[in-house]
Amino acid sequence: MKLPFRSVAILGAGLMGRLMAVTLARAGCRVDLHEAGSAEAEGAAARVAAAMLAPLAESAVAPVPLVRMGHHALSRWPELLAPLARPVFFQREGTLVLWHRQDANEAARLARVLAHTGTQVPELAPMRTLDGAGIEALEPSLGRRFTSGLFLPGEGQLDNRALLAALLATLQADDKVTLHWQSPRAPEDFAPGAPGQPDWLIDCRGLGARPQWNALRGVRGEVIRVHAPDVTLARPTRLVHPRYPLYIAPKPEGLFVIGATEIESDDMSPASVRSTLELLSAAYAVHSGFAEARIVEIATQCRPTLPDNLPALRQPRPRVLQINGLYRHGFMIAPALLDAAMEWLAQGRSPLAQGFGLETP
Ligand SMILES: Cc1cc2nc3c(=O)[nH]c(=O)nc-3n(C[C@H](O)[C@H](O)[C@H](O)COP(=O)(O)OP(=O)(O)OC[C@H]3O[C@@H](n4cnc5c(N)ncnc54)[C@H](O)[C@@H]3O)c2cc1C
Repeated sequence: MKLPFRSVAILGAGLMGRLMAVTLARAGCRVDLHEAGSAEAEGAAARVAAAMLAPLAESAVAPVPLVRMGHHALSRWPELLAPLARPVFFQREGTLVLWHRQDANEAARLARVLAHTGTQVPELAPMRTLDGAGIEALEPSLGRRFTSGLFLPGEGQLDNRALLAALLATLQADDKVTLHWQSPRAPEDFAPGAPGQPDWLIDCRGLGARPQWNALRGVRGEVIRVHAPDVTLARPTRLVHPRYPLYIAPKPEGLFVIGATEIESDDMSPASVRSTLELLSAAYAVHSGFAEARIVEIATQCRPTLPDNLPALRQPRPRVLQINGLYRHGFMIAPALLDAAMEWLAQGRSPLAQGFGLETP
């Protein structure tokens, strides 16, 4: 893609900042990436996330523009991952949705919502209803524990930490990129377009942008990582739950991410006993093999969220682009936002964003 400028400064080396940096550098730009924390991304929502790529499953809480972006992203991820300096675990084995008998009404409501999404976004692979034998055929280790479920073919997931590391290694290997760690910055620190300044400023600070974008709020999420080499699940499994969707996402090397609570709060304190009990009980209820799992990490982060729970591209002043509000769908939609932002930077408009139903600056 031909860009009408030569240099950018990017604020925030979480998910969106790293993706923008790699893509802009590949397009020939000089990139200065400023991150408040270290290369480990310890302050990024992206480090804690489960990184499920499940637009149909998420349509239970996500409006159609997000589903369209999620569908676009599923086919874009392999293209984005292929040239990175390190391999990243990515799969499209679908999503399995299960429920206990007492949650059958909620499950029936969910099935109706997903069926309606299928009519609005017909390009999504249609869901299938499963009986006990169908569940066992997909996930033999679950046996006949559940008598009914849903299967959403083609949905995906990736390894978030491997992705952050691979993006970092790619940036480190590129001599057009300068990385600035422990470097908290605000858009006011730059005068893009002025002599000695970058041509453009891209603000990807997630919740760190709140001082300048006060509509942003945090939505707290708690997740648990366990090592359970004796449990075999081939794909993310969701358990219908009256308060929030619970999931178990299998990652490489016997690791599982169990998540995630969803609490309207920007409290980043450690996970509560109640949340921990609920998450671990849900995993144990799905597969008794989790009884012997080892708890590797219990983490809390807040999702950067705008009032309509949709992401936004915003231009608060000339030559400054802000990308934020990725909420609980950052990995699911990031390639779509990336493509829309690149179109917008190259042409001053984004037909792609319009097609998703997303507002542009
Ligand atoms: C518990 C949990 C589970 C999730 N699960 C999923 C999932 O399964 N699927 C999915 O698609 N999404 C999921 N998400 C959402 C996803 O993680 C976020 O949407 C995504 O990480 C947002 O990306 P971002 O780049 O905007 O922000 P972040 O990833 O938070 O990155 C922002 C970066 O900006 C830096 N920064 C802040 N202030 C400054 C400053 N002043 N100067 C420089 N740098 C600064 C921060 O340190 C951080 O590194 C989950 C999130 C959470 C919390």
